[in-house]
Amino acid sequence: MNPTCPPARLTYRLALIGGFWLLVVAASLAWNIHQAQQSRNSLARETARVFYEQLLLTRRWNAQHGGVYVPVTEDTQPNPYLEDPRRDIRVSEDLLLTKINPAFMTRQFSEMAQETYGVQFHITSLKPLRPANVPDAWETQALEQFEDAGLLEYGELIEDSDRLFYRYMGALITEPPCMPCHAKQGYQVGDVRGGVSVTLPTLAPLPIPGLIGSHLVVAISGLLVIVGLGWLLTRAYDELRHQAVMDALTSIPNRRYFVERLMLELHRSVREQMPLSLIILDIDYFKGYNDHYGHLAGDRCLCQVAKLLSENLRRATDFCARYGGEEFVVVLPNTTRVGAIEVAEQLRAALAALALEHHAAPLGKVTISAGVASNVSRDLDHETLIQRADQALYRAKEQGRNRIEADAAGAS
Ligand code: GH3
Ligand code: MG
Ligand code: MG
Repeated sequence: MNPTCPPARLTYRLALIGGFWLLVVAASLAWNIHQAQQSRNSLARETARVFYEQLLLTRRWNAQHGGVYVPVTEDTQPNPYLEDPRRDIRVSEDLLLTKINPAFMTRQFSEMAQETYGVQFHITSLKPLRPANVPDAWETQALEQFEDAGLLEYGELIEDSDRLFYRYMGALITEPPCMPCHAKQGYQVGDVRGGVSVTLPTLAPLPIPGLIGSHLVVAISGLLVIVGLGWLLTRAYDELRHQAVMDALTSIPNRRYFVERLMLELHRSVREQMPLSLIILDIDYFKGYNDHYGHLAGDRCLCQVAKLLSENLRRATDFCARYGGEEFVVVLPNTTRVGAIEVAEQLRAALAALALEHHAAPLGKVTISAGVASNVSRDLDHETLIQRADQALYRAKEQGRNRIEADAAGAS
């Protein structure tokens, strides 16, 4: 296990932040599309309303004049629905004038608007004078809303199988100039007599590709920032963790890491019903070494011992650490008491074989004593295990140093 490995928690949190960011961007995209739809609808309604209001103005102008006379042509024939004794006036042999009332004018405007802009007007009523003014289903629904809910306009976007268009209906309110023709239908001034429907054939397209593109750019940039910051954080974490768990002098794990890992390995050994052994090693006569060679030389000696320990551990799961001062520990997962004594003996022999000069020691070289303890009963906590190994080490010191002693538990 890498002592400086960042916790999965950090990656998990970064993934959470990334997910939250994507959610925010998705919500913004949805909101922007909604807003674009809203503005397209209100633009369509405004456009339709302008057509309707202009039409009303011209109708009002026409009605104020009691209708206007125009020459009869092939396209403009007398209106058969206009009951007026002075509907047609012959001015001369080749000029016959006929009266155009607001309704007839609306029809003519409608034809022109359709040819010019593709916009359709339809003057309609629930009680039409002309059969052509009978409302279609949508218009009937709009007119009923005027009657039932007192609305004066109604508009909506309609989606056909192959096209999208906007329909609008504005109320036609009876004004005094309308009375001569419409009083006989029972209308009074102020009554809603019908409506003018306006159909807009084309609508501004929604800027969806642009919105998706810009949101994608924002989403990706945000993710890059999150990943970049995450990378920086992970590096900073690595560095801090390294400082927190590695021994600055010997560059092997420190006591803090040792305790964390030992607890973890002990749990694992109990769970997997496997043995676990601990060796505590202490350099013999080290105070004398410092006194004789100086503190810096003592430091170098500690580094040499640490290097020797880490180089002589064979299994990937074995690890050593500096416990403090001139004391080291070796943790051997899945290793019995006997196996641990062997490992300790090998380490002791390897150091003895190095023959690091130590004139202040009886043997003239640097040696170590070690205490071994195993979690034979599988229910030892880490403190007890350390204590037992420490007691064994104490016995090794007592019995002359440069030797291994093991805790009695597990010996057969
Ligand atoms: P024993 O054989 O009983 O272990 O005797 P000892 O002299 O090794 O033990 P003692 O506890 O009397 O002394 C340990 C010495 O280790 C004292 C201290 O100066 C030295 N020491 C502890 N940490 C360091 C360190 O980081 N660097 C150096 N140079 N010396 C250290
Ligand atoms: Mg000591
Ligand atoms: Mg010592």
